[in-house]
Amino acid sequence: MREQIINYLNELYPHPKCELNYNKDYELLLSVMLSAQTTDKSVNAATSELYKKYDTLEKLDALSVLEISNYIKRIGFTQAKSKNFKFIVGKIKELGYVPNDREYLESLPGVGRKTASVVLSHLFNEPNFAVDTHVFRVSKRLGITTKKDDVLKTEIKLKKYFKKDDWNRVNSQLVLFGRYNCTSKKPSCELCKLKNICKEKKGWINSSFYCTVIVWVTDLFILVPS
Ligand code: SF4
Repeated sequence: MREQIINYLNELYPHPKCELNYNKDYELLLSVMLSAQTTDKSVNAATSELYKKYDTLEKLDALSVLEISNYIKRIGFTQAKSKNFKFIVGKIKELGYVPNDREYLESLPGVGRKTASVVLSHLFNEPNFAVDTHVFRVSKRLGITTKKDDVLKTEIKLKKYFKKDDWNRVNSQLVLFGRYNCTSKKPSCELCKLKNICKEKKGWINSSFYCTVIVWVTDLFILVPS
């Protein structure tokens, strides 16, 4: 089963990439923090001008919370995220670099285990599994985890299930698979090559069921004489 999942993910996403746009290491940290409860697309839309205009930590640090909030007002939780942004910029400027240090990263406001894992795997190639909403959902559907597993248990199980060398790649692939294929409300089950191992199958059972009903009703109309 594991090989089947890996092969299919490799087929769909041979070169998975983080979809947040960034040029500097601290920009990735800030963008992942901003991406909580919103999409990468909206974070990119909010930060493109901000990072372009203020392309150093010094320039970003000169911005007030209000000025930051004007750039990120469309992504939600603006007040809290603007304050976190300002604080993180100040701390990283003081330090001079984004450290390869989970404890430090998680001590920053708005930075939890998932954000730290993304930063550590993308900037330092540290093997990790960052469990976001997509990874959480897809892991359950594929039977790697169970309905009662929380985020931390999901991470532990994923780390056991996949080889360490594969963690970062599979992590990125699962995010993309959940974002574009195995979506929350309308998964593309008909096309999915993991149907045979999927525990949920809700989407494809539903769509198959509706197709069957439509065919059945159509047949009935053809057969009933007018
Ligand atoms: S069959 Fe559907 S729900 Fe199951 S893994 Fe594939 S896309 Fe997701």
